Amino acid sequence: MAVQLGDLELHLLVAGHWKADGGLMFGVVPKVLWEKQKPADGNNMIDCACVGLIARVNGRVIVCETGIGTKLSEKRARQVALREPEGLLHSLRRVGIRPDEVDAVITTHLHWDHAGGLTRRDSQGGLELTFKRARHFIQRTEWDFALHPDVRSASGYVSDDFTPLADGNKAVEFLSGDAEVMPGVHVRHVGGHTPGSQVLVLRTGELACAVTGDLVCQTPHLRVPWTMSADIEPLRVLEQKARLLEEAERHRWLLVLSHEPDQPVGYLEEGGRWRPEPRLA
Ligand SMILES: [Zn+2]
Repeated sequence: MAVQLGDLELHLLVAGHWKADGGLMFGVVPKVLWEKQKPADGNNMIDCACVGLIARVNGRVIVCETGIGTKLSEKRARQVALREPEGLLHSLRRVGIRPDEVDAVITTHLHWDHAGGLTRRDSQGGLELTFKRARHFIQRTEWDFALHPDVRSASGYVSDDFTPLADGNKAVEFLSGDAEVMPGVHVRHVGGHTPGSQVLVLRTGELACAVTGDLVCQTPHLRVPWTMSADIEPLRVLEQKARLLEEAERHRWLLVLSHEPDQPVGYLEEGGRWRPEPRLA
């Protein structure tokens, strides 16, 4: 199923399912509050998905977010209860798009659960780009931080996910702040969660769709103060999230929430109500 917004043809991308620690997802929010909405298992883990978007805009194909991908060790995949790691390519196949037909790839940041699908193992066990023809748009600040993260952030990055992008084939284009990377395709540098976190905003006339990344992970995160413990600049997250949600509600933007396993695409309505878009379920 697809949604046509003006010139934009939008398809849901679900690049796998996994589980994350509830405390990581909800930071300072007391468990008695979040577990009513997102029940935890015996290990305090909650269900998550890796959600993004496949868009056709003026004959170009854009993939936003790539999920965990297929490179996790068996042990690590078990730890995070990874399911459907091939969801990235399966989602594309359902839309009838081959990996070499993708023109642009935008990940909101380079954490392992967003950038893992950028690369995969080739038949010799080396690394190859998943989308060999595509331009990849990444904030320069994110790239630099991912190569040299602080000790608290180091476990969030896996260099095999992204360093092959810079191996001489000019697959990557570094951005410094907000940019329109092709007509109607905007990235907004929001930082906060990581230094170079960006939100993708696709615009056509008065209509828009935003892929939020970890600025808004799941439906409970639509409340501005409900943020992740992994955010490196929590106050910036609050400020940027309040701005995004205010715009999204006022202008009726379609929102794609990065880790929501149930009904991840929808509209924010008055009073903070979530109205899922059933055609992108
Ligand atoms: Zn993240």
